[in-house]
Amino acid sequence: MRPLVGVTCSSSSSNEASESKRYTLPHDYVYALTRAGGEAVILPAGDGESAIRLASALDGILLSGGADLDPRHFGEDPHPRLGHIDPERDEFELALVRAAIQAGTPILAICRGIQVLNVAMGGTLYQDIPSQVNGAIKHRQDAPRYHASHKVVVERHSKLAGMVGAGDVLVNSFHHQAVREVAPGFFVSARSTDGVVEGIESAHDLFVVGVQWHPECMTDQYPAMLEIFAAFVAEAAARR
Ligand code: MN
Repeated sequence: MRPLVGVTCSSSSSNEASESKRYTLPHDYVYALTRAGGEAVILPAGDGESAIRLASALDGILLSGGADLDPRHFGEDPHPRLGHIDPERDEFELALVRAAIQAGTPILAICRGIQVLNVAMGGTLYQDIPSQVNGAIKHRQDAPRYHASHKVVVERHSKLAGMVGAGDVLVNSFHHQAVREVAPGFFVSARSTDGVVEGIESAHDLFVVGVQWHPECMTDQYPAMLEIFAAFVAEAAARR
């Protein structure tokens, strides 16, 4: 049986008062998970109780990309360049991460997801790379979603190296926030050449892997990126 993988999603309110909130998730996440042998279940933001229940009922949790994280969750006021925030999604995903780690449920955290993961476990973020990181390269590419626009160096002794290889790996980039102080119990598995954190992992024997890029957009053009989903789904299947 295919392991059940919960995928978090965004919500958007229409400008028209007559329309209610909608949940949205790019198809690429479902496509990559399905190709890797997983069964995707989309998770709308719920309360803390639902986060605990879902984290133990599901075989894996995928935190998808989306809006900026509210900096109050790491004790800061908003930087002028902070973008849109979704308070309900923040609360739900932070609770979901803590519950999943408590339950031993594998986590794959992508883009916003790596940031949520880091903050949930006590780390901090750069709220805006261009104004807070000296000498930063371009992390918001003007190129197709699948295109690998910058290099990261993957740490040899990491789970990530077992998926995409150690050393230089080309990735896409659609972010202006990034992990700043890494949460206790986690280590950096990849960095870009400007020092920005592009990957973190649990230092414990749990599959808790975060990447700052969007591997789900790259699986057709860069088959190694599908290995990230394959490794995650294999962990979820083992748990099932
Ligand atoms: Mn980047």
